[in-house]
Amino acid sequence: MLSRGAFSELDTGASPTLSELTEALHFALGDGRIWLNAQRMVLMQSQVLGRLRQEIIDAFGMEVAKGIFMRVGYMQGVRDAELIQKRFPSEDLTHALAAGPRVHTLEGFVKVVTKQFEFDREKGTYFGEFYWHDSSEAGEHIALHGLASEPVCWMQTGYPSGYTSTLFGRPVIFREIECSGMGASRCYVVGQNAEEWGEDAPERAFLGLDWPRQRRRSHDTAAPSAAKSSAVPTGEPVVGGDAVVGVSASFLRARLMVEKVADTEATVLLVGESGVGKESFSQQLHRLSSRSDGPFVALNCAAIPDTLVESELFGVEKGAFTGAVASRPGYFERANGGTLFLDEIASLAYAAQGKLLRALQERVIERVGGVKTVPADVRVIAASNVDLAEEVRAGRFREDLYFRLCVFPISIPPLRERRDDIPLLVDHFLRLFRERHRRDVVGLSRRAMDALLAYHFPGNIRELQNLIERGVIFADPGGSVDIQHLFTAGEVPQSFQPSLTPEGRLAALSSARGASTPLQTPMLRSAQELVMAEADLYRSALKQAEGNVSAAARALGLSRAKLEYRLRKHGMLN
Ligand SMILES: [Zn+2]
Repeated sequence: MLSRGAFSELDTGASPTLSELTEALHFALGDGRIWLNAQRMVLMQSQVLGRLRQEIIDAFGMEVAKGIFMRVGYMQGVRDAELIQKRFPSEDLTHALAAGPRVHTLEGFVKVVTKQFEFDREKGTYFGEFYWHDSSEAGEHIALHGLASEPVCWMQTGYPSGYTSTLFGRPVIFREIECSGMGASRCYVVGQNAEEWGEDAPERAFLGLDWPRQRRRSHDTAAPSAAKSSAVPTGEPVVGGDAVVGVSASFLRARLMVEKVADTEATVLLVGESGVGKESFSQQLHRLSSRSDGPFVALNCAAIPDTLVESELFGVEKGAFTGAVASRPGYFERANGGTLFLDEIASLAYAAQGKLLRALQERVIERVGGVKTVPADVRVIAASNVDLAEEVRAGRFREDLYFRLCVFPISIPPLRERRDDIPLLVDHFLRLFRERHRRDVVGLSRRAMDALLAYHFPGNIRELQNLIERGVIFADPGGSVDIQHLFTAGEVPQSFQPSLTPEGRLAALSSARGASTPLQTPMLRSAQELVMAEADLYRSALKQAEGNVSAAARALGLSRAKLEYRLRKHGMLN
Protein backbone atom coordinates (compact mmCIF):
# COMPACT_ATOMS: atom_id res chain seq x y z
CA MET A 1 0.00 0.00 0.00
CA LEU A 2 1.36 3.38 -0.98
CA SER A 3 1.34 6.03 1.75
CA ARG A 4 1.92 9.68 1.08
CA GLY A 5 2.76 12.75 3.05
CA ALA A 6 2.89 16.33 1.97
CA PHE A 7 3.46 19.80 3.34
CA SER A 8 -0.23 20.67 3.82
CA GLU A 9 -1.12 17.90 6.25
CA LEU A 10 2.20 17.22 7.87
CA ASP A 11 4.05 20.41 8.64
CA THR A 12 1.02 21.73 10.42
CA GLY A 13 -1.21 19.97 12.94
CA ALA A 14 0.06 16.38 12.86
CA SER A 15 1.44 14.95 16.09
CA PRO A 16 4.11 15.31 17.35
CA THR A 17 3.83 19.04 16.64
CA LEU A 18 6.72 21.43 16.99
CA SER A 19 5.22 22.47 20.34
CA GLU A 20 5.04 18.88 21.56
CA LEU A 21 8.64 18.38 20.50
CA THR A 22 9.61 21.52 22.39
CA GLU A 23 8.12 20.00 25.52
CA ALA A 24 10.69 17.25 25.17
CA LEU A 25 13.32 19.97 25.47
CA HIS A 26 14.38 20.43 29.03
CA PHE A 27 16.85 22.92 30.49
CA ALA A 28 18.27 21.67 33.77
CA LEU A 29 19.32 25.16 34.78
CA GLY A 30 22.63 25.39 36.59
CA ASP A 31 23.26 21.68 36.12
CA GLY A 32 25.25 21.97 32.90
CA ARG A 33 22.71 19.95 30.99
CA ILE A 34 20.09 20.41 28.30
CA TRP A 35 17.95 17.43 27.45
CA LEU A 36 15.95 16.56 24.38
CA ASN A 37 13.93 13.78 25.92
CA ALA A 38 16.66 11.47 27.21
CA GLN A 39 19.44 12.81 24.98
CA ARG A 40 21.92 15.30 26.30
CA MET A 41 22.26 18.31 23.99
CA VAL A 42 24.62 21.27 23.84
CA LEU A 43 24.14 24.83 22.70
CA MET A 44 27.05 25.86 20.55
CA GLN A 45 27.63 28.85 18.30
CA SER A 46 27.01 27.99 14.68
CA GLN A 47 30.26 29.79 13.80
CA VAL A 48 32.19 27.49 16.10
CA LEU A 49 30.76 24.49 14.30
CA GLY A 50 31.78 26.23 11.07
CA ARG A 51 35.29 26.62 12.44
CA LEU A 52 35.42 22.94 13.40
CA ARG A 53 34.35 22.08 9.88
CA GLN A 54 37.11 24.29 8.52
CA GLU A 55 39.75 22.66 10.71
CA ILE A 56 38.67 19.22 9.55
CA ILE A 57 38.74 20.29 5.88
CA ASP A 58 42.25 21.73 6.37
CA ALA A 59 43.49 18.62 8.12
CA PHE A 60 41.94 15.91 5.94
CA GLY A 61 40.82 17.52 2.69
CA MET A 62 37.36 18.17 1.31
CA GLU A 63 36.35 14.58 0.47
CA VAL A 64 37.28 13.11 3.86
CA ALA A 65 35.63 16.02 5.67
CA LYS A 66 32.49 15.48 3.63
CA GLY A 67 32.37 11.83 4.72
CA ILE A 68 32.96 12.70 8.35
CA PHE A 69 30.18 15.27 8.44
CA MET A 70 27.75 13.04 6.58
CA ARG A 71 28.32 10.29 9.12
CA VAL A 72 27.91 12.68 12.02
CA GLY A 73 24.64 13.96 10.53
CA TYR A 74 23.57 10.37 9.93
CA MET A 75 24.20 9.54 13.59
CA GLN A 76 22.22 12.59 14.63
CA GLY A 77 19.30 11.39 12.50
CA VAL A 78 19.50 7.90 13.97
CA ARG A 79 19.38 9.28 17.51
CA ASP A 80 16.43 11.52 16.76
CA ALA A 81 14.55 8.65 15.11
CA GLU A 82 15.07 6.67 18.30
CA LEU A 83 13.79 9.62 20.30
CA ILE A 84 10.63 9.79 18.22
CA GLN A 85 10.07 6.04 18.51
CA LYS A 86 10.48 6.23 22.25
CA ARG A 87 8.65 9.39 23.15
CA PHE A 88 5.92 9.34 20.52
CA PRO A 89 5.47 5.67 19.76
CA SER A 90 3.01 5.35 16.90
CA GLU A 91 1.91 2.71 14.48
CA ASP A 92 1.65 5.44 11.88
CA LEU A 93 4.92 5.50 9.98
CA THR A 94 3.78 8.53 7.96
CA HIS A 95 3.61 10.64 11.12
CA ALA A 96 6.88 9.33 12.43
CA LEU A 97 8.65 10.07 9.13
CA ALA A 98 7.10 13.52 9.00
CA ALA A 99 8.36 14.35 12.49
CA GLY A 100 12.02 14.16 11.36
CA PRO A 101 12.01 17.50 9.52
CA ARG A 102 10.42 19.10 12.59
CA VAL A 103 13.07 17.81 15.00
CA HIS A 104 15.76 18.89 12.57
CA THR A 105 14.14 22.33 12.43
CA LEU A 106 13.79 22.51 16.22
CA GLU A 107 17.49 21.78 16.61
CA GLY A 108 18.16 24.90 14.60
CA PHE A 109 20.28 23.52 11.78
CA VAL A 110 17.90 24.36 8.98
CA LYS A 111 14.24 25.07 8.31
CA VAL A 112 12.86 22.01 6.58
CA VAL A 113 9.77 22.18 4.38
CA THR A 114 8.34 18.92 3.13
CA LYS A 115 7.46 18.99 -0.56
CA GLN A 116 6.17 15.43 -0.55
CA PHE A 117 7.16 11.89 0.25
CA GLU A 118 5.71 8.48 -0.41
CA PHE A 119 6.58 4.98 0.63
CA ASP A 120 5.33 1.44 0.39
CA ARG A 121 5.99 -0.50 3.51
CA GLU A 122 5.49 -3.95 1.99
CA LYS A 123 7.56 -3.29 -1.12
CA GLY A 124 10.11 -1.37 0.94
CA THR A 125 10.23 1.63 -1.41
CA TYR A 126 10.68 5.25 -0.35
CA PHE A 127 10.86 8.52 -2.24
CA GLY A 128 10.81 12.01 -0.74
CA GLU A 129 11.54 15.65 -1.69
CA PHE A 130 12.29 18.42 0.77
CA TYR A 131 13.29 22.08 0.70
CA TRP A 132 15.75 23.51 3.17
CA HIS A 133 15.64 27.20 3.95
CA ASP A 134 18.44 29.12 5.67
CA SER A 135 20.85 26.22 6.02
CA SER A 136 23.34 27.07 8.77
CA GLU A 137 25.88 24.74 7.19
CA ALA A 138 25.67 26.49 3.82
CA GLY A 139 25.96 29.84 5.61
CA GLU A 140 29.15 28.77 7.39
CA HIS A 141 30.60 27.39 4.18
CA ILE A 142 29.98 30.61 2.27
CA ALA A 143 31.41 32.66 5.11
CA LEU A 144 34.71 30.78 4.95
CA HIS A 145 34.95 29.74 1.29
CA GLY A 146 32.56 31.84 -0.75
CA LEU A 147 30.14 30.16 -3.17
CA ALA A 148 30.73 26.46 -3.73
CA SER A 149 30.65 24.52 -6.97
CA GLU A 150 28.83 21.57 -5.45
CA PRO A 151 26.35 21.05 -2.58
CA VAL A 152 27.90 21.67 0.84
CA CYS A 153 25.22 20.75 3.41
CA TRP A 154 26.94 17.50 4.28
CA MET A 155 25.88 17.01 7.88
CA GLN A 156 22.37 18.06 7.04
CA THR A 157 22.16 15.52 4.21
CA GLY A 158 23.34 12.77 6.53
CA TYR A 159 20.57 13.60 8.96
CA PRO A 160 17.48 12.54 6.94
CA SER A 161 19.42 9.52 5.66
CA GLY A 162 19.94 8.33 9.25
CA TYR A 163 16.48 9.31 10.39
CA THR A 164 14.58 7.72 7.52
CA SER A 165 16.74 4.58 7.35
CA THR A 166 16.19 3.94 11.06
CA LEU A 167 12.42 4.36 10.96
CA PHE A 168 11.99 2.66 7.62
CA GLY A 169 14.29 -0.23 8.45
CA ARG A 170 16.08 -0.05 5.07
CA PRO A 171 18.89 2.17 3.84
CA VAL A 172 17.57 5.40 2.35
CA ILE A 173 20.03 7.97 0.98
CA PHE A 174 19.34 11.68 0.69
CA ARG A 175 21.21 13.82 -1.80
CA GLU A 176 21.26 17.57 -2.28
CA ILE A 177 20.28 18.50 -5.83
CA GLU A 178 20.40 22.27 -5.32
CA CYS A 179 22.23 24.03 -2.50
CA SER A 180 22.11 27.61 -1.22
CA GLY A 181 25.87 27.22 -0.74
CA MET A 182 25.99 27.29 -4.57
CA GLY A 183 23.82 30.39 -4.79
CA ALA A 184 20.36 28.77 -4.97
CA SER A 185 17.56 30.48 -3.03
CA ARG A 186 17.15 27.31 -0.93
CA CYS A 187 18.50 23.79 -0.88
CA TYR A 188 16.51 21.00 -2.51
CA VAL A 189 17.04 17.41 -1.37
CA VAL A 190 15.78 14.11 -2.63
CA GLY A 191 15.74 10.83 -0.73
CA GLN A 192 15.24 7.34 -2.10
CA ASN A 193 16.26 3.75 -1.49
CA ALA A 194 20.04 3.36 -1.49
CA GLU A 195 19.95 0.91 -4.40
CA GLU A 196 18.09 3.47 -6.55
CA TRP A 197 21.15 5.75 -6.49
CA GLY A 198 23.25 2.98 -8.02
CA GLU A 199 26.06 0.79 -6.75
CA ASP A 200 28.69 3.52 -7.11
CA ALA A 201 26.83 6.30 -5.28
CA PRO A 202 29.51 8.11 -3.22
CA GLU A 203 27.19 8.25 -0.20
CA ARG A 204 27.47 4.48 0.14
CA ALA A 205 31.12 4.84 1.05
CA PHE A 206 30.57 7.94 3.20
CA LEU A 207 27.87 6.28 5.22
CA GLY A 208 29.41 2.84 5.37
CA LEU A 209 26.56 1.18 3.48
CA ASP A 210 25.33 -1.49 3.11
CA TRP A 211 24.87 -0.98 6.77
CA PRO A 212 22.43 -3.75 7.74
CA ARG A 213 24.87 -6.48 6.73
CA GLN A 214 27.91 -4.70 8.05
CA ARG A 215 26.27 -4.02 11.36
CA ARG A 216 25.34 -7.63 11.91
CA ARG A 217 28.78 -8.81 11.02
CA SER A 218 30.50 -6.56 13.52
CA HIS A 219 28.17 -7.83 16.21
CA ASP A 220 28.86 -11.47 15.44
CA THR A 221 32.60 -11.16 15.58
CA ALA A 222 32.77 -9.04 18.73
CA ALA A 223 35.00 -10.81 21.23
CA PRO A 224 33.01 -11.80 24.31
CA SER A 225 35.65 -10.37 26.64
CA ALA A 226 35.49 -7.02 24.91
CA ALA A 227 31.73 -7.04 25.13
CA LYS A 228 31.94 -7.79 28.82
CA SER A 229 34.31 -5.04 29.70
CA SER A 230 33.38 -2.16 27.48
CA ALA A 231 30.78 0.48 27.95
CA VAL A 232 30.60 1.91 24.47
CA PRO A 233 28.38 4.97 24.32
CA THR A 234 26.27 3.66 21.47
CA GLY A 235 23.02 4.83 22.98
CA GLU A 236 22.08 1.20 23.46
CA PRO A 237 21.42 0.38 27.10
CA VAL A 238 24.49 -1.36 28.48
CA VAL A 239 23.03 -3.90 30.82
CA GLY A 240 25.07 -5.92 33.22
CA GLY A 241 23.95 -8.16 36.02
CA ASP A 242 24.21 -5.22 38.39
CA ALA A 243 23.88 -1.53 37.99
CA VAL A 244 27.34 -1.02 36.50
CA VAL A 245 25.67 0.82 33.65
CA GLY A 246 26.46 4.18 32.16
CA VAL A 247 27.99 6.32 29.46
CA SER A 248 28.81 9.51 31.39
CA ALA A 249 32.40 10.66 31.56
CA SER A 250 32.72 10.34 35.34
CA PHE A 251 31.22 6.86 35.31
CA LEU A 252 33.47 5.71 32.47
CA ARG A 253 36.52 7.05 34.28
CA ALA A 254 35.69 4.98 37.36
CA ARG A 255 34.94 1.97 35.22
CA LEU A 256 38.17 2.29 33.30
CA MET A 257 40.10 2.35 36.58
CA VAL A 258 38.32 -0.81 37.71
CA GLU A 259 39.32 -2.48 34.44
CA LYS A 260 42.93 -1.30 34.78
CA VAL A 261 43.42 -2.62 38.27
CA ALA A 262 41.28 -5.77 37.98
CA ASP A 263 43.91 -8.28 36.91
CA THR A 264 46.50 -7.13 39.44
CA GLU A 265 46.70 -8.15 43.09
CA ALA A 266 46.52 -4.55 44.33
CA THR A 267 44.27 -3.69 47.25
CA VAL A 268 41.58 -1.32 46.00
CA LEU A 269 39.72 1.37 47.90
CA LEU A 270 36.34 2.43 46.53
CA VAL A 271 35.25 5.83 47.74
CA GLY A 272 31.79 7.25 47.23
CA GLU A 273 28.55 8.27 48.84
CA SER A 274 26.06 5.76 50.11
CA GLY A 275 24.11 4.05 47.35
CA VAL A 276 26.47 4.81 44.43
CA GLY A 277 26.96 1.10 43.74
CA LYS A 278 30.29 0.36 45.40
CA GLU A 279 29.42 -3.31 45.85
CA SER A 280 28.40 -3.61 42.18
CA PHE A 281 31.74 -2.10 41.19
CA SER A 282 33.60 -4.51 43.46
CA GLN A 283 31.73 -7.47 41.98
CA GLN A 284 32.62 -6.24 38.53
CA LEU A 285 36.26 -5.92 39.58
CA HIS A 286 36.17 -9.48 40.87
CA ARG A 287 34.62 -10.79 37.65
CA LEU A 288 37.31 -9.13 35.56
CA SER A 289 40.14 -10.40 37.77
CA SER A 290 42.11 -13.63 37.54
CA ARG A 291 40.31 -14.63 40.75
CA SER A 292 36.91 -14.72 39.05
CA ASP A 293 36.66 -18.49 39.55
CA GLY A 294 37.20 -18.03 43.29
CA PRO A 295 34.61 -16.81 45.79
CA PHE A 296 33.40 -13.22 46.15
CA VAL A 297 32.60 -12.55 49.80
CA ALA A 298 31.13 -9.26 50.99
CA LEU A 299 31.00 -7.96 54.54
CA ASN A 300 29.55 -4.69 55.78
CA CYS A 301 31.80 -3.73 58.70
CA ALA A 302 29.13 -1.42 60.10
CA ALA A 303 26.65 -4.28 60.37
CA ILE A 304 28.52 -6.34 62.96
CA PRO A 305 29.08 -5.38 66.59
CA ASP A 306 32.64 -4.42 67.61
CA THR A 307 32.91 -7.44 69.90
CA LEU A 308 32.23 -9.84 67.05
CA VAL A 309 34.26 -8.18 64.30
CA GLU A 310 37.45 -10.17 64.84
CA SER A 311 35.77 -13.57 65.03
CA GLU A 312 33.67 -12.79 61.97
CA LEU A 313 36.65 -11.64 59.94
CA PHE A 314 39.28 -14.12 61.04
CA GLY A 315 37.30 -17.07 62.40
CA VAL A 316 37.38 -18.60 65.83
CA GLU A 317 38.83 -21.66 67.52
CA LYS A 318 36.65 -23.79 69.77
CA GLY A 319 36.70 -22.55 73.36
CA ALA A 320 38.19 -19.17 72.51
CA PHE A 321 35.41 -17.51 74.47
CA THR A 322 32.12 -18.46 76.06
CA GLY A 323 29.82 -19.50 73.30
CA ALA A 324 32.56 -20.54 70.90
CA VAL A 325 31.44 -24.14 71.00
CA ALA A 326 32.92 -25.06 67.65
CA SER A 327 35.76 -23.86 65.47
CA ARG A 328 34.64 -21.99 62.39
CA PRO A 329 36.32 -20.04 59.62
CA GLY A 330 35.86 -16.32 59.21
CA TYR A 331 35.27 -14.21 56.12
CA PHE A 332 38.97 -14.20 55.24
CA GLU A 333 39.13 -17.98 55.03
CA ARG A 334 35.84 -18.18 53.17
CA ALA A 335 37.19 -15.76 50.58
CA ASN A 336 40.36 -17.80 50.08
CA GLY A 337 41.43 -17.77 46.43
CA GLY A 338 38.93 -15.02 45.73
CA THR A 339 37.98 -11.49 46.71
CA LEU A 340 36.87 -10.07 50.06
CA PHE A 341 34.81 -6.89 49.88
CA LEU A 342 34.83 -4.88 53.11
CA ASP A 343 32.18 -2.18 52.99
CA GLU A 344 32.15 0.78 55.40
CA ILE A 345 35.70 0.04 56.41
CA ALA A 346 35.84 3.19 58.58
CA SER A 347 33.56 1.59 61.14
CA LEU A 348 35.97 -1.29 61.76
CA ALA A 349 37.03 -1.43 65.43
CA TYR A 350 40.54 -0.11 66.06
CA ALA A 351 41.90 -3.50 67.25
CA ALA A 352 40.50 -5.26 64.21
CA GLN A 353 42.17 -2.67 62.00
CA GLY A 354 45.57 -3.90 63.26
CA LYS A 355 44.72 -7.48 62.44
CA LEU A 356 43.48 -6.50 59.00
CA LEU A 357 46.73 -4.64 58.35
CA ARG A 358 48.70 -7.76 59.22
CA ALA A 359 46.54 -9.90 56.97
CA LEU A 360 47.16 -7.51 54.10
CA GLN A 361 50.89 -7.21 54.71
CA GLU A 362 51.85 -10.77 55.60
CA ARG A 363 48.98 -12.53 53.86
CA VAL A 364 48.34 -14.66 56.93
CA ILE A 365 45.60 -14.59 59.55
CA GLU A 366 45.12 -16.05 62.98
CA ARG A 367 41.76 -17.26 64.25
CA VAL A 368 40.53 -15.81 67.53
CA GLY A 369 41.81 -18.14 70.29
CA GLY A 370 44.05 -19.88 67.79
CA VAL A 371 47.79 -20.42 67.97
CA LYS A 372 48.74 -21.14 64.41
CA THR A 373 48.67 -18.80 61.45
CA VAL A 374 46.66 -19.62 58.34
CA PRO A 375 47.73 -18.38 54.89
CA ALA A 376 45.22 -15.93 53.46
CA ASP A 377 45.22 -15.80 49.67
CA VAL A 378 42.69 -13.01 49.51
CA ARG A 379 42.39 -9.86 47.46
CA VAL A 380 40.77 -7.13 49.53
CA ILE A 381 38.55 -4.40 48.15
CA ALA A 382 37.60 -1.88 50.80
CA ALA A 383 34.92 0.77 50.49
CA SER A 384 34.12 3.90 52.41
CA ASN A 385 31.50 6.61 52.26
CA VAL A 386 33.43 8.86 54.64
CA ASP A 387 36.76 10.57 54.10
CA LEU A 388 39.29 8.12 55.56
CA ALA A 389 42.03 10.76 55.74
CA GLU A 390 39.72 12.73 58.01
CA GLU A 391 39.17 9.63 60.15
CA VAL A 392 42.94 9.26 60.44
CA ARG A 393 43.29 12.88 61.57
CA ALA A 394 40.55 12.32 64.14
CA GLY A 395 42.43 9.31 65.47
CA ARG A 396 39.69 6.84 64.63
CA PHE A 397 41.48 5.10 61.79
CA ARG A 398 45.01 3.69 61.74
CA GLU A 399 47.27 5.67 59.48
CA ASP A 400 49.31 2.62 58.45
CA LEU A 401 46.16 0.77 57.38
CA TYR A 402 44.98 3.86 55.55
CA PHE A 403 48.15 3.97 53.45
CA ARG A 404 47.94 0.24 52.87
CA LEU A 405 44.39 0.54 51.57
CA CYS A 406 45.09 3.65 49.56
CA VAL A 407 47.27 1.88 46.98
CA PHE A 408 44.59 2.29 44.34
CA PRO A 409 41.67 4.51 45.31
CA ILE A 410 38.76 4.76 42.89
CA SER A 411 36.16 7.43 43.35
CA ILE A 412 32.63 6.42 42.36
CA PRO A 413 30.63 9.51 41.35
CA PRO A 414 27.25 10.29 42.90
CA LEU A 415 24.30 9.99 40.54
CA ARG A 416 23.71 13.76 40.42
CA GLU A 417 27.18 14.08 38.84
CA ARG A 418 26.40 11.49 36.19
CA ARG A 419 22.87 12.44 35.20
CA ASP A 420 23.58 11.43 31.62
CA ASP A 421 23.28 7.86 32.88
CA ILE A 422 19.80 8.26 34.35
CA PRO A 423 17.96 7.20 31.16
CA LEU A 424 20.14 4.08 30.84
CA LEU A 425 19.70 3.18 34.49
CA VAL A 426 15.95 3.74 34.30
CA ASP A 427 15.76 1.37 31.33
CA HIS A 428 17.86 -1.15 33.18
CA PHE A 429 15.77 -1.11 36.35
CA LEU A 430 12.47 -1.04 34.46
CA ARG A 431 13.42 -4.21 32.67
CA LEU A 432 14.65 -5.82 35.88
CA PHE A 433 11.55 -5.08 37.95
CA ARG A 434 9.05 -5.68 35.18
CA GLU A 435 10.41 -9.18 35.00
CA ARG A 436 10.84 -9.70 38.72
CA HIS A 437 7.32 -8.54 39.62
CA ARG A 438 5.74 -9.78 36.38
CA ARG A 439 4.21 -6.38 35.57
CA ASP A 440 3.54 -5.28 32.02
CA VAL A 441 4.30 -1.61 32.65
CA VAL A 442 5.09 0.04 29.31
CA GLY A 443 7.58 2.63 30.51
CA LEU A 444 7.83 6.03 32.12
CA SER A 445 5.58 8.98 31.35
CA ARG A 446 7.30 12.09 30.02
CA ARG A 447 6.82 14.07 33.20
CA ALA A 448 8.09 11.17 35.30
CA MET A 449 11.27 11.01 33.20
CA ASP A 450 11.65 14.79 33.31
CA ALA A 451 11.28 14.73 37.09
CA LEU A 452 13.94 12.04 37.43
CA LEU A 453 16.32 14.03 35.24
CA ALA A 454 15.86 17.04 37.52
CA TYR A 455 16.00 15.20 40.85
CA HIS A 456 19.15 15.39 42.99
CA PHE A 457 19.13 11.80 44.30
CA PRO A 458 20.59 12.03 47.79
CA GLY A 459 20.34 8.23 47.96
CA ASN A 460 22.03 7.80 44.59
CA ILE A 461 21.47 4.70 42.44
CA ARG A 462 19.91 2.75 45.27
CA GLU A 463 17.29 5.47 45.55
CA LEU A 464 16.65 5.46 41.80
CA GLN A 465 16.33 1.68 41.95
CA ASN A 466 13.80 1.93 44.79
CA LEU A 467 11.83 4.61 42.96
CA ILE A 468 11.58 2.51 39.81
CA GLU A 469 10.68 -0.63 41.73
CA ARG A 470 7.95 1.24 43.59
CA GLY A 471 6.74 2.78 40.32
CA VAL A 472 6.57 -0.57 38.54
CA ILE A 473 4.52 -2.04 41.38
CA PHE A 474 2.31 1.00 41.79
CA ALA A 475 1.52 1.74 38.12
CA ASP A 476 -1.62 0.39 36.50
CA PRO A 477 -1.15 -2.81 34.51
CA GLY A 478 -0.45 -2.00 30.89
CA GLY A 479 0.01 1.69 31.74
CA SER A 480 3.11 3.75 32.27
CA VAL A 481 4.86 4.79 35.46
CA ASP A 482 3.84 8.36 36.24
CA ILE A 483 5.21 10.91 38.65
CA GLN A 484 2.84 10.05 41.51
CA HIS A 485 3.92 6.40 41.32
CA LEU A 486 7.52 7.42 41.84
CA PHE A 487 7.61 10.19 44.39
CA THR A 488 5.34 9.30 47.24
CA ALA A 489 7.51 11.35 49.59
CA GLY A 490 10.32 13.84 49.27
CA GLU A 491 10.94 16.74 47.00
CA VAL A 492 11.63 17.28 43.38
CA PRO A 493 13.24 20.55 42.46
CA GLN A 494 11.45 22.62 39.89
CA SER A 495 13.21 22.86 36.62
CA PHE A 496 12.81 25.00 33.58
CA GLN A 497 10.29 23.54 31.16
CA PRO A 498 10.29 25.49 27.94
CA SER A 499 7.43 26.06 25.58
CA LEU A 500 7.29 27.88 22.28
CA THR A 501 5.67 31.27 21.99
CA PRO A 502 3.97 32.08 18.67
CA GLU A 503 7.10 34.05 17.76
CA GLY A 504 9.21 30.95 18.36
CA ARG A 505 10.76 32.15 21.60
CA LEU A 506 11.30 29.73 24.41
CA ALA A 507 9.24 30.51 27.49
CA ALA A 508 8.52 28.67 30.69
CA LEU A 509 5.44 26.50 30.47
CA SER A 510 2.42 28.04 32.16
CA SER A 511 0.87 26.12 35.01
CA ALA A 512 -2.29 25.62 32.99
CA ARG A 513 -0.34 23.04 31.00
CA GLY A 514 -0.56 20.45 33.72
CA ALA A 515 1.41 17.82 31.85
CA SER A 516 4.77 19.42 32.39
CA THR A 517 4.59 21.37 35.60
CA PRO A 518 4.01 19.10 38.59
CA LEU A 519 7.66 19.08 39.48
CA GLN A 520 6.93 21.26 42.44
CA THR A 521 6.45 19.99 45.92
CA PRO A 522 2.93 21.33 46.54
CA MET A 523 1.52 19.33 43.67
CA LEU A 524 3.45 16.25 44.63
CA ARG A 525 2.22 16.56 48.12
CA SER A 526 -1.33 16.81 46.88
CA ALA A 527 -0.84 13.67 44.79
CA GLN A 528 0.33 11.91 47.89
CA GLU A 529 -2.59 13.27 49.89
CA LEU A 530 -4.94 12.04 47.23
CA VAL A 531 -3.53 8.55 47.56
CA MET A 532 -3.89 8.69 51.32
CA ALA A 533 -7.44 10.03 51.13
CA GLU A 534 -8.35 7.19 48.79
CA ALA A 535 -6.92 4.63 51.21
CA ASP A 536 -8.88 6.22 54.08
CA LEU A 537 -12.07 5.97 52.08
CA TYR A 538 -11.58 2.24 51.49
CA ARG A 539 -10.58 1.68 55.08
CA SER A 540 -13.74 3.22 56.46
CA ALA A 541 -15.92 1.45 53.88
CA LEU A 542 -14.40 -1.86 54.90
CA LYS A 543 -14.93 -1.04 58.54
CA GLN A 544 -18.58 -0.16 57.90
CA ALA A 545 -19.03 -3.46 56.06
CA GLU A 546 -17.24 -5.33 58.86
CA GLY A 547 -14.51 -6.49 56.55
CA ASN A 548 -16.85 -7.81 53.86
CA VAL A 549 -15.19 -6.72 50.60
CA SER A 550 -18.28 -7.33 48.45
CA ALA A 551 -20.44 -5.19 50.75
CA ALA A 552 -17.80 -2.44 50.88
CA ALA A 553 -17.58 -2.48 47.10
CA ARG A 554 -21.35 -2.15 46.79
CA ALA A 555 -21.36 0.78 49.20
CA LEU A 556 -18.63 2.48 47.16
CA GLY A 557 -20.34 1.75 43.86
CA LEU A 558 -17.41 -0.34 42.64
CA SER A 559 -17.21 -3.90 41.43
CA ARG A 560 -15.69 -6.35 43.89
CA ALA A 561 -12.81 -7.04 41.50
CA LYS A 562 -12.06 -3.35 41.15
CA LEU A 563 -12.05 -2.73 44.89
CA GLU A 564 -9.85 -5.78 45.46
CA TYR A 565 -7.42 -4.48 42.86
CA ARG A 566 -7.28 -1.04 44.50
CA LEU A 567 -6.92 -2.46 47.99
CA ARG A 568 -4.02 -4.54 46.77
CA LYS A 569 -2.47 -1.46 45.24
CA HIS A 570 -2.67 0.31 48.58
CA GLY A 571 -1.19 -2.71 50.33
CA MET A 572 -4.45 -3.28 52.22
CA LEU A 573 -5.04 -6.73 50.79
CA ASN A 574 -2.57 -9.48 49.99
ZN1 LIG B 1 22.65 23.15 0.97
